[in-house]
Amino acid sequence: KLQRIGLTGGIGSGKSTAASMFAEQGIPVLDLDQVGRDLLAPGSAAVQQIQDAFGITFVLADGPTDRKALAAHCFADAAKTARLNAIMHPLIWQAEEQWLDRQQGEMAIIEASVLLESGGAGRMDAVIVVMAEERLRLQRVLRRGLQDEHQFHVILKRQCDDQQRVEQADYLINNNGSLSALRDQVVSLYEKLQRNS
Ligand code: ATP
Repeated sequence: KLQRIGLTGGIGSGKSTAASMFAEQGIPVLDLDQVGRDLLAPGSAAVQQIQDAFGITFVLADGPTDRKALAAHCFADAAKTARLNAIMHPLIWQAEEQWLDRQQGEMAIIEASVLLESGGAGRMDAVIVVMAEERLRLQRVLRRGLQDEHQFHVILKRQCDDQQRVEQADYLINNNGSLSALRDQVVSLYEKLQRNS
């Protein structure tokens, strides 16, 4: 039976980097954040439901959903966040199930930034949490260039903290060191997971 392995961590912890290292080992990886973004394609069921629920279209001039505007509208308010999640989560879980059904090997990795916040641990056979000091995470995020320091802190506040992640983790990866130190941990964890399967 396919082992479902969740891979998560806070902003800039290195979960996408770790996920790509698992993929190098031959494990199929699903990027659940990307699944969510793909669901917001123009004319999709999700976009229609969001429009009906909020009475506004979050559409850019050239058609795609303006995810920044959608996030700004919804994440400022707990009720709106819940309404958005109620639309998105079942669609994301359905896409996840369909993807898992197509996987053949002994394990598959589901990478998701808010896996634990959205109650996803229950769907997984094991949860890996990638951790790094906040100072390093900020440095790496700034160097990556997708978010500035203010955006880093906004996202950080929206996510649970490492203490809460550790409580739900089966395996921890420490990403305070170099990329090769990260890869070493990924390889030894992969070997351990293979022994358990
Ligand atoms: P987000 O939740 O924002 O998507 P993430 O947890 O997926 O972040 P990554 O994108 O994997 O984090 O890593 C953040 C940045 O830090 C990337 O540019 C990545 O290349 C870099 N990085 C990751 N691990 C290390 C490391 N050990 N040493 C140096 N840079 C690293």
